[in-house]
Amino acid sequence: MDADETAWEQRSVVRVVPPVQPRKLAKVPFVELADGRLQGVVSSGSDIERVYVSSIAAGTHDLSCSTNNNRPCGALHGYACKHIRMLADEAVLQYGLDRVARYLRVEVPEGGHLMSALNGTPQRTPAAVVLSRFLRHLAYLEVPDSTEPLAELHWFPAMGPETGKVG
Ligand SMILES: [Zn+2]
Repeated sequence: MDADETAWEQRSVVRVVPPVQPRKLAKVPFVELADGRLQGVVSSGSDIERVYVSSIAAGTHDLSCSTNNNRPCGALHGYACKHIRMLADEAVLQYGLDRVARYLRVEVPEGGHLMSALNGTPQRTPAAVVLSRFLRHLAYLEVPDSTEPLAELHWFPAMGPETGKVG
């Protein structure tokens, strides 16, 4: 799209930035309803350097999960792996069950659980698109390695150019 976006996409290593506030975000640092999917990034339970890119497609409810290196998640076969379940839980926390269910076009019975109402099958979805969105999202949590002014950062009063060092 623009030079900025290309630069983000060329970064091959995802840096997992500590959340600004200590919250559940550490487990699921990124979740969004976009591109016809509930999609996001889930931290690996065992390896701090690794993240999983997980998604559930609206309508078909196809499930996808792969690492940041685009390797298929070994735990996703036939049913949702824990990464997709964590993503779904976080999405419900962030957006509310009604909104997530509407977006995915799924009927969740009263008192039911989102994942129980889905019966999609695993499909490969390229991780790169979600990852580039995640990296752009990270740009709002840290001051990027750039001297270009980032207009959106004025939302964060404590993060001026001089005080913006994270960690
Ligand atoms: Zn997985």
